[in-house]
Amino acid sequence: MKFSELFLSKSKFIDGVQCEKLLWHRVKDRAAIPPPSADTVAVFEQGRAVGELAKGLFPGGVGIPWIYDIERAIEQSTKAIEARKTIFEAWIVSEFACAKVDVLRPADDGAWDLIEVKSTTEVKKEHYDDVAFQIHACQDSGIKIRKCYLMHINKTYERDGKIDPAKLFTTKEITAEAVERVPDVREEFQRMRKVLELDQSPQVAIGQHCRSPYICQMKEKCWDFLPKQNVFQLHYDRGFKTALGLMERNILDIGDVPGDTKLTEFQKIQVNAAKSGKPILNLDNIRTFFGRLKYPLYFLDFETVAPAIPVYNHTRPYQQVPFQYSLHVLDKPDAKARHTSWLADGTDDPREEILRRLKQELGDYGTIVAYNAPFELRALAESVETYSAYQSWFKKIETRFVDLLEPFKNAWYYHPDQNGSASQKAVLPALTGRSYKGMEIAEGGMASREYYRVTFTAVPPEERARVRAALETYCCTDTQGMVDIIQTLEQII
Ligand code: SF4
Repeated sequence: MKFSELFLSKSKFIDGVQCEKLLWHRVKDRAAIPPPSADTVAVFEQGRAVGELAKGLFPGGVGIPWIYDIERAIEQSTKAIEARKTIFEAWIVSEFACAKVDVLRPADDGAWDLIEVKSTTEVKKEHYDDVAFQIHACQDSGIKIRKCYLMHINKTYERDGKIDPAKLFTTKEITAEAVERVPDVREEFQRMRKVLELDQSPQVAIGQHCRSPYICQMKEKCWDFLPKQNVFQLHYDRGFKTALGLMERNILDIGDVPGDTKLTEFQKIQVNAAKSGKPILNLDNIRTFFGRLKYPLYFLDFETVAPAIPVYNHTRPYQQVPFQYSLHVLDKPDAKARHTSWLADGTDDPREEILRRLKQELGDYGTIVAYNAPFELRALAESVETYSAYQSWFKKIETRFVDLLEPFKNAWYYHPDQNGSASQKAVLPALTGRSYKGMEIAEGGMASREYYRVTFTAVPPEERARVRAALETYCCTDTQGMVDIIQTLEQII
C-alpha cells in the first residue's frame, strides 16, 4: 500500500468529509481529478503567504523544511518535539492520520498548544473538523494538547506602513469546539477506511455537497450527464432543494419541469422560456427602467484587487481596491460611444488618480450605468474615506448611478441561454450574440489575480506588457458590453 493509502492527510480527510467518491479518487485514482482551478491555486498561494507572516508572531520557532521526503520530515518533527521547541508545520503521524500542524507551541506539564492559521476573516464550522483532525493525530501519537487556537485575519485591521502581524491576526481559542469533534473524526476515519478498501469508486449522487464547503474539483465530470439547460440552474434554488426533488422524479431538463412544481417568479419565467425556446420580456418594466436613464450615459466598470494582506496604506484585508476603470460615454441613443480608460502602473496606491480622473470624466449631468452598481459605489465610497477631498463630489455623483443588473435580476428580460444567471457574462451573449470567448482575461477574478501577479511579483517585462494589454481589452469589453445591452434592449422596446 502507498503512504497515501496508509495515512490520510488533512486535505484528504477534508475531501472525505465532503464526499466519499472524491476521497476514493484522490487516493486511488488521482489522475481522474482535474487540476485545481486558478482560483483555488490563488487561494492556496494566499494561504501560504498568510502562514509565513503568522510565523513572525512566534520568535524562536523552527520550521520543518518540506523536501519531498516524508520520513525525513517526520524524523525532524520528532526531534523538535523532543527538544520542546515551537515548531512550524510539524509532521505528526499516527494510525491512519498524517497531520501537518501549522504551529505547535510547548505549554506547561509537557503539553502543547496547537495553533491553526487561516486566511479567512472568521472561524468557520469546517475549521473545527480541521483542528479536530490534528488533535486526533497528536493524541494518538502521544502528544498531549492543552489548548487549540485559530488565528485568522482581522478584517478591521488597516495597514499603516509596514504590515503589523500582531494587528493583522486575531486569535480565538477553539479548544472546546474542536475537542468535541474528535470522536466524530475517529468515526469518520473508520468510514473512510472502508471506502478506501473498495476496488471501485463509490456511487454518490450529485447535490449541495458538490459545492459546499468547497467547489469539488470533480464537479464538471460528475455533472456532465445533465442536459445543457437543467434543473440545477434554477435561479436561487437554495441547497438545490427543488432540483434534487425533480431529479428524484427523473426530471432533469428545465423544459420538462411540471406545472405543479413550487417555483419562484424568476424560476417560472426560466421554465417558460425553456419550454418556448424564446426570451421572455416585461416591456412595461423595461420601459420604466429606460425612463430613469438621462443622457449622456456613462458606462463605468472597475477592476479591483482585494488581497488578504493589504498592499496599500489605509486599506483593510480583502478591501476591493480599484486599480483600473473603463468608461464608455453615449451622448444619445443611436450615437457611437466614446471610450476612455486608465490602468494603474506600479505599486503606488491607484485610488487618488482614479478619483481625480473620474471627477473630470463623469461631468455634472447624466446617468452613470454600472452592472451590479453597488460594487462600483462601494469601491468609490471606500476610496473617498481615505481621500476625503473627494467626498462631496462622491455625494453628488452617487445618486446618478443606475444598476443595469436590475432588469435581469428581476427577469424583466430573460433568455433561455442565460441558464438561470443574470450576470453580464450570461446576459451579453444571450442578448447580443457577443461574448468573452477566446479572451486571455475573461472574468473579474482572473483580472484581479493577473494584475496582482504582474504588479507585485517579478515577471518578465514582455509578459507584464501582454497581461496589461489583456486587462485593457477585458475591462473595455465590460463597458462596451453594457452599451450593447442598452442599445439592443432599446431596439427591442
Ligand atoms: S462532484 Fe459531487 S459527487 Fe462528484 S466527487 Fe465531487 S462532491 Fe462527490
